[in-house]
Amino acid sequence: MLKGKTAIVTGSTSGIGLGIARKLAAAGADIMLNGFGDAAEIEAVRRAVETDYGVRALYSAADMSKPDQIADMVAAASAGLGGADILVNNAGIQHTARVEDFPAERWETIIAINLSAVFYGSQAVLPHMKARNWGRIINIASAHGLVASAQKAAYVAAKHGVVGLTKVVALENAETNITCNAICPGWVLTPLVQKQIDALAARENISVQEAQVRLLSEKQPSKQFTTPEQLGDLAVFLCGDAAANIRGASLSVDGGWTAQ
Ligand code: NAD
Repeated sequence: MLKGKTAIVTGSTSGIGLGIARKLAAAGADIMLNGFGDAAEIEAVRRAVETDYGVRALYSAADMSKPDQIADMVAAASAGLGGADILVNNAGIQHTARVEDFPAERWETIIAINLSAVFYGSQAVLPHMKARNWGRIINIASAHGLVASAQKAAYVAAKHGVVGLTKVVALENAETNITCNAICPGWVLTPLVQKQIDALAARENISVQEAQVRLLSEKQPSKQFTTPEQLGDLAVFLCGDAAANIRGASLSVDGGWTAQ
């Protein structure tokens, strides 16, 4: 279905981004991987995408907090893979603290990676998409793009910003074949969430397993984690013809979190 398309997935060396990159590759897209990590492990991931799915995969070490590096990553996808048809803005980080204790440097970095990178990435890919009159921008927001939690000021502000930016990009391109939508996951068991589970276990002096149950019970009525693979399948759906007129939507995949 996506043969001949190129997909850039930011933050795809781990977690949700990797799940999405692998599903897009399974659907036939060539992939530009991005994110941090051990060089040998990243190379193994890149090679596995190529051999498992028979597509081409490149890796960019671009830091999503640096606009010039985001532009370079898009240029590298275009030069190396022949296009920039699909952009999944997924890279994201978290920090928890009350507003009065929130380090300014953490605020700035979270806004840069979780929000501004979505703007700069969209700005860089839109000319490529317009040239072919086809494109898909998929922003991985969060349930925290729709509702808030205490101690997550920067993350919640950034994700609400992503939901708003998604609508603007969708509207500006509404008469083209370029769509822009957001996916709003609840809890997904990735390294980002594991850190929060470990912190909860340490703070409350409970086991990691108990902390996991408590974390889910507090917000997510299904009491089940969403998987990166489920989000990958949704991203593939958003790239298809059936989704051609879904524009500016925020699709919740949160076990009922925001239905409450
Ligand atoms: P993760 O920590 O497993 O992966 C984050 C990825 O982003 C990694 O590949 C990391 O290397 C990369 N990254 C971090 N900083 C970067 C930077 N400056 N430049 C480039 N890459 C960078 O996290 P995850 O849980 O897979 O989260 C992915 C996205 O999904 C994030 O935007 C997150 O906010 C969102 N999200 C996660 C959950 C969840 O429950 N895990 C829920 C809702 C939304």
